Amino acid sequence: SVFVLASFVLSCSAKVQRFPRPGESLAADIVMIEPGGKGLNLAVAARRLGAEVDGLLAVGDDLASAFAAPALAQADLPASMLIRVVGKTGSGVGFTDAHGETCLAVDPGANHALSADHVREAAERIAAAAMVMAQFEIADGPIAEALALARRAGVTTLLNPSPFRPIPDEILATTDILVLNQTEAEALAETVLPGAIDPAEPARFVSELGPAVLARGPRLVVLTLGAAGAVALGHEGAIGQPAFPVDVVDTLGAGDAFAAALGVALARGLGTAEALRQAAAAGAVATRRAGVFDALGCQADLDQLIGL
Ligand code: ADP
Repeated sequence: SVFVLASFVLSCSAKVQRFPRPGESLAADIVMIEPGGKGLNLAVAARRLGAEVDGLLAVGDDLASAFAAPALAQADLPASMLIRVVGKTGSGVGFTDAHGETCLAVDPGANHALSADHVREAAERIAAAAMVMAQFEIADGPIAEALALARRAGVTTLLNPSPFRPIPDEILATTDILVLNQTEAEALAETVLPGAIDPAEPARFVSELGPAVLARGPRLVVLTLGAAGAVALGHEGAIGQPAFPVDVVDTLGAGDAFAAALGVALARGLGTAEALRQAAAAGAVATRRAGVFDALGCQADLDQLIGL
C-alpha cells in the first residue's frame, strides 16, 4: 500500500471574462466549489491506479471541513485518513479569465496544523506501507517525522516538494525519490540553466543539474518537463522519457498524477524506466480532460496510452 501525507484545500473558483478591478464586483460565467489540494490529488490518483491507499489529511472544525469526508468516500479512500483540528480548513479562492490566465490565493489552514505527533500516532500504518509519499502543502515537521519513521522501517519514500520552499537537510537525507520540476531543481542546486533540459539528451541533466541534487540525499531524482516529458537520474545513470502525445484540454493535476503513478509503479516493484513510462502516461492522461479528479486515469488508461 502507499501512505500519503495529504492535504485538503476547498477551492472556490470563478470563470470570468476578465479579472475584476479593485472595488469592482462582476458577474462570473460560473463559480465552482470543489475539494482539492495536492495531497488529496496524490491519494486519489494512486487509488485510481488500483493501489491500496492510507494516509493523513487534516481539516478544521468549520463549514468547509464538511466537504472532506464525502470527497474521501467518493474516491474510495479510507475515512481513517481524516484528522480534525481546531481552526479553519485549508481553502483557496481563484479566478480564471477568458485567456485562461489564473490568479489564486490559498489559506493552508488545518494543513499546517498536521503535526509530527499526528504522524507518530500513525507509525504502525506507515511501517506497514510499501511507499510513503509527501508534498509541500504541509509543514516540515510532520514530513521529517514520517520520512524518518519510513526510513527506519525500510519503507521507500517519495517527496514532491511543491509548492516549493527550501528543503531542510534532514528531509532530503531521508528522501529516496525526489520528484520536481526544472525550476525547483535549479533552486535546490542553486544554479540556473540556460534553457530547458531535453529528455532526448538526459546527459545534459547529468552534467549540469542532477549530481548537485543527487548529492543531497535522494537515490533517484526525477525532473518533470511539462509537454517535453521527464528525465530521471539515479546512481545507475540517467533515463529520458518523452511525453506521450495527447490532445491537451488542461494540464491541471498532471504533476500530481505523474508523482502518484511513479510512486505506485515503484511500490509495485517495477524498474525505474518502466515506472517513469507509467508516470509520463499518467501525466498525459490527466491533461486530456478538464479538472483534476475527473481527468485522472486508471491503470487501463495508462496501459492503453503506453501501447501495452
Ligand atoms: P506540473 O503540473 O507539476 O508543472 P508538469 O507540467 O511537468 O508538472 O507535468 C507532469 C508530467 O505530466 C510531465 O512530466 C509529462 O510527463 C506530463 N505532461 C504534462 N503536460 C503534458 C502535455 N502537454 N502532454 C503530454 N504530457 C504532459
